[in-house]
Amino acid sequence: MAEQASKKLASTGGRTVNPGLVGQGFSPDNKPAQSAGALAPEVCFSQAYPTPRARVQAMKEYHPPLGSRDAMRLDFNENTLACSPKVREVLARISAGDLTRYPERQPVEAIVAAHLGLAAEQVALTNGVDEAIHVLFESFLEAGDELLLPVPTYTMYEVYASATDARVVPVQAADDLHFPYERLLASITQRTKIIAIANPNSPSGSVATREQLVEIARRAPQAVLLVDEAYFHFYGESVIDLIGTVPNLILARTFSKAYGLAGLRLGLLAGQVELMRWVRRVLSPYSVNSLALACLPPALEDTAYLDWYVREVLEARKEFEAALDKAGVRRWPSRANFILVEIGSQHAEFVRLMRAAGVLVRDRSSDPGCDGRVRITIGTREQMRQAVVALNESIAALRFALKPEKGKAQ
Ligand code: PMP
Repeated sequence: MAEQASKKLASTGGRTVNPGLVGQGFSPDNKPAQSAGALAPEVCFSQAYPTPRARVQAMKEYHPPLGSRDAMRLDFNENTLACSPKVREVLARISAGDLTRYPERQPVEAIVAAHLGLAAEQVALTNGVDEAIHVLFESFLEAGDELLLPVPTYTMYEVYASATDARVVPVQAADDLHFPYERLLASITQRTKIIAIANPNSPSGSVATREQLVEIARRAPQAVLLVDEAYFHFYGESVIDLIGTVPNLILARTFSKAYGLAGLRLGLLAGQVELMRWVRRVLSPYSVNSLALACLPPALEDTAYLDWYVREVLEARKEFEAALDKAGVRRWPSRANFILVEIGSQHAEFVRLMRAAGVLVRDRSSDPGCDGRVRITIGTREQMRQAVVALNESIAALRFALKPEKGKAQ
């Protein structure tokens, strides 16, 4: 028995074993190894593993399609070009010694707050807006609570909510994908604890008006109104000035989009001090790393670069919209750096054809109410002109394949 177990543990399944680890009693499966006598052969572990919370077991796995992205990246709504050269200069000056220190976020929070016209205590930097969402939900959602979520929207709200004991209440947009304002108001109950609104929203590109947001906050004083302004720079309108006036408002901003710093993972939450106090209790003091903290001030200062990039994208969006209209592709009006388009039943083939033509786009078919729809990020004018060529070829190939006498052009 002990011999059998030890034989089983000895098998590495043909994989390379780190000799250093084996000597310490570890195998590639993180099971105790048989060699070197680190563990007595008669010690046998059962195959039973500890189980996580029921909510975690019920969570869906979420794997964004990040593999093989060596092409034109019109799939994740990132900046498609580069961050400010000023950020690169700061990065180049970081020494090995600098990396030995724990990151100190407060001085940078003060800089960001001043830039936004807020007090330092009203702002918390986060490891991307994803951490901001996670921490906010962990701070406020408990059993019996409801998260109101206009859908379709950004995937991670539901992912993080599903790890809590609260219930997600989706509020479906109509076919026009306009912000479902009336339906959302009607869904507010005493149990509503967070209302999460991406403004502009993804994947639709639609927006909620300032008046609508204020009214929602007024009707749900027991709830946090999270307004996620990840795409603010492309829209130009914000409710940041209402922080402090609207007591239950919390705002999120990211540096992953217009600023071009998705790889550094930088976001923030802003709200009145009483709310931010709780968020800060849950937030790790070290979750924003020192490289990201060093890069933030130069990114904020270089407003010329940011303005240039945003103008470029808005021009490119206009041109791309015209190209979609010319190609007869239905599109939804967007206030962000992406456009949702209707491809229909051949959505997966379209994404494949675009990839073959060197352009990555994102199939949103599995989003609620988005069957057959694909989201295309807007990059620079030059990039989008290449994307139009790929789009026209892909659409032509799909239409050709769909002709009644397959294979015969008319
Ligand atoms: N909010 C919205 C609405 C988004 O679309 C995204 C990214 N796609 C995020 C937040 C995530 O931002 P970050 O990279 O800062 O985590």
